[in-house]
Amino acid sequence: MEMSSFLFLLAVPYSFALPLIAEETDKMGNWQFAEKYLSSFYGLPVGVQGTGELQNNVRQKLREMQAFFGLNVTGDLDSSTLSLMDMPRCADPDIGQQHHLKWKKTLLTFRIVNYTPDLPEFTVDLTITKALKAWSHVTPLVFKKVEGGTADIMISFNSRDHGDGSPFDGPKHLLAHAFPPGNHIGGDVHFDEDENWSTDSTDFNLFLVACHEFGHALGLSHSTDPGALMYPFYSYAQGFPLSEDDIRSIQALYGIKMWALDGYSLVDGYPKYIHKLGLPKSVRKIDAAVHIPDTGKTLLFTGQAYWSYDESRGRMDSSSPRSIEDDFPGIGDKVDAVYYEHG
Ligand SMILES: [Zn+2]
Ligand SMILES: [Zn+2]
Repeated sequence: MEMSSFLFLLAVPYSFALPLIAEETDKMGNWQFAEKYLSSFYGLPVGVQGTGELQNNVRQKLREMQAFFGLNVTGDLDSSTLSLMDMPRCADPDIGQQHHLKWKKTLLTFRIVNYTPDLPEFTVDLTITKALKAWSHVTPLVFKKVEGGTADIMISFNSRDHGDGSPFDGPKHLLAHAFPPGNHIGGDVHFDEDENWSTDSTDFNLFLVACHEFGHALGLSHSTDPGALMYPFYSYAQGFPLSEDDIRSIQALYGIKMWALDGYSLVDGYPKYIHKLGLPKSVRKIDAAVHIPDTGKTLLFTGQAYWSYDESRGRMDSSSPRSIEDDFPGIGDKVDAVYYEHG
């Protein structure tokens, strides 16, 4: 009742001119659509009391959505806002996600519970593995496929209502959703089986959607950066799917890429985060490292600076970082590899 009277009020200024009736039906449909959209993705409270309160809430949430996407923040249901609402997208919300949820381990299991008939099973296997690789490439995370039982990341294709309180909507619009890290349904990824899944530019590329959803399964929220994989809307692109923004976000959660190998075997306890050595989060990559036996220090070269790690004390020297140019004059500031010889 409350909602229909609200919609009626909004329609009033336009409803006197008879030729506009069809247009009015559209407008009412638009507001109903917008209300549903805002409750799905912007936390618009449902079942609020009073028309005025609903209207204020809708306008407030419209403003939040417009700010998220960098539109003019008007609080009105203008055409640019409406056309964004119509785009194919991820079914996870844009705001109100629990932040900072992350896995407390680096080895994660995944299981493909069922397959889409749109693609051969081995293609789905390859695509899912490749999508997870995009994330393991920039984090210490390792993904292991299991064939049965409960995995951290359970992957399935589902239609409409599939028992988790977040039904899909048939073809187009909502493509998939994922749950943030945690037990039970946490980390699980569901694809809308009513989409036509592909490995090319036709609707919809499974690799790209899977990459995006795995971002959520690892703890990422939606990004406002239109170039980011974690932007809520689907767009087809080729090449490595993660943008700088995606990499920065995932590395803020999981840090980076320190491995210890004995021959070809990974040493127990690795991978470890390089930041645990005492490097600041701003350091995202080590260009080269060398151990100096005489001093017991390991020097880590990154960008134009190097850090000195005291192996016996197990901590970074307080004089770090130091300038490569000052201490190793002549070798330049772009170091690819380092070795130690004759002191
Ligand atoms: Zn998403
Ligand atoms: Zn689901």
